Amino acid sequence: MPQNDFSALSEQLRQAACIESIDHLLDWDQQVNLSEPAAEGRGEQRAYISAAHHAILGSSALRETLERLKARGDLSPLQQQIVDEADWRIARISKVPAELTRELALLKVRSVQAWERARVEQSFAGVESLLGSLIEASRARAAAIDSSANTYQTMLDDYERGITFAELETIFSELRPELTTLLGELEELGAGKSELQFSDGAFPRTVQYELCREVVQQLGFSFDCGRLDTATHPSCSTCGPKDVRLTTRYEEDDFVFALTSAIHEAGHGLYDQGLDEGYLGTAKGRPSSLGVHESQSIIWERQVGLSEPFWKFCFPRARKKFPALAGCSQSEFYRWVHKVEPSLIRIAADEISYHLHIIARFELEAALMDGSLAPRDLPGAWDDKYRSLLGVSAAKPSEGVLQDVHWYAGYFGYFPTYTLGAVYAAQLFSAFEKTSPKWKDDFEAGDFGGLHRWLGKNIYSHGACYLPRELISNAAGEAPAAKYLMRYLREKYLGIFKQPA
Ligand SMILES: [Zn+2]
Repeated sequence: MPQNDFSALSEQLRQAACIESIDHLLDWDQQVNLSEPAAEGRGEQRAYISAAHHAILGSSALRETLERLKARGDLSPLQQQIVDEADWRIARISKVPAELTRELALLKVRSVQAWERARVEQSFAGVESLLGSLIEASRARAAAIDSSANTYQTMLDDYERGITFAELETIFSELRPELTTLLGELEELGAGKSELQFSDGAFPRTVQYELCREVVQQLGFSFDCGRLDTATHPSCSTCGPKDVRLTTRYEEDDFVFALTSAIHEAGHGLYDQGLDEGYLGTAKGRPSSLGVHESQSIIWERQVGLSEPFWKFCFPRARKKFPALAGCSQSEFYRWVHKVEPSLIRIAADEISYHLHIIARFELEAALMDGSLAPRDLPGAWDDKYRSLLGVSAAKPSEGVLQDVHWYAGYFGYFPTYTLGAVYAAQLFSAFEKTSPKWKDDFEAGDFGGLHRWLGKNIYSHGACYLPRELISNAAGEAPAAKYLMRYLREKYLGIFKQPA
């Protein structure tokens, strides 16, 4: 019955989303609770769940339903958006031969295991050949999706639908010299130095947990529909529409790491808590791209959690909880939080040099994909990039080419979404500021509801109905552009470090 086709599509998409959320629950449990010997069994469970997900979205019945819906001319604009998004997503699954999908999944598991060993042995050679096979299989997958398109372009679409290689190059070529200039200016101002140091144990983890919980709740995260646990890698797993699970990690000599990580993950969580549950699994109830998701975590972590008004709210609370802060002024502390120094490790980088780490990876992975860089030459190319972009050189592969799992897990085209997230976040916040001139007073008073509502209206409520570029343009009044990120970084960091300490 054609009239029921739309309901049938919605129901199938809902079921696929339920299966996805079961996988997220298994993943969260693996990160928080699972013992090491149980990991293999968990892998088997997750492979079964992944096959069940594939069976729903790859079914010929669903394909036929979609074809009938595409041929109809009487769909509402929202129904049309839901059909278009599902068609795009399902086509990417069904065009890839099942045999290739299985081969890729197997290669990824073997390659990640080899990467773990190679890190311990400090030897890139241990993973080089599997990386080569993974690149070949990823190329074959991209060709199956669209044989006429540029390989890396197809891979970018996996994570940031619609973004073009040329658009990314424009953004990165604008950022690259400006970030380098700003880093030079900040080095001259002594932004890498701080007298402040805290001893191990200065910030007991149970007290840090209390602070993280209080803060993310104040930002708008609902603990009736979510939780906060401890894991090695901070994360956000959405295990159901009212079940958003955050994790963070505690360092007892630096409570800011756990707090900013919890705020970052809560930003992801606020987005997922804000999606329309009635449309679960469809474009209206799904998050948009990875870049947009990252913009939601970054806007809370940086534009809010690293802002001066936020620390005017938070510092007195932190000082009450941690006697170690007694002798430290708020401005001295704020400077310490913003220390800037180019270093080797991406995930430990400050928010300025961070993007140079991403640019290095973008340029290298594009070269790996177009064949101009062979896997065996990757360590040397990595070293050259780091020396020219950041002026640092890794003494061992675990601090260089083996530091991130992404490539060894087959995630080519993923890295640029981190910087896109920061570009979108700065641009969205700039648009929010214009509608909310009192935001500084509000944040200082612990009232973050204005931003939460603004994002709800402009981002959460649209789900994945629009391409990321359109979603950001509609919300911010201009297509994604690097200038807002640079303006935010320059104003903030020069503002902090040009003042006498
Ligand atoms: Zn994130």
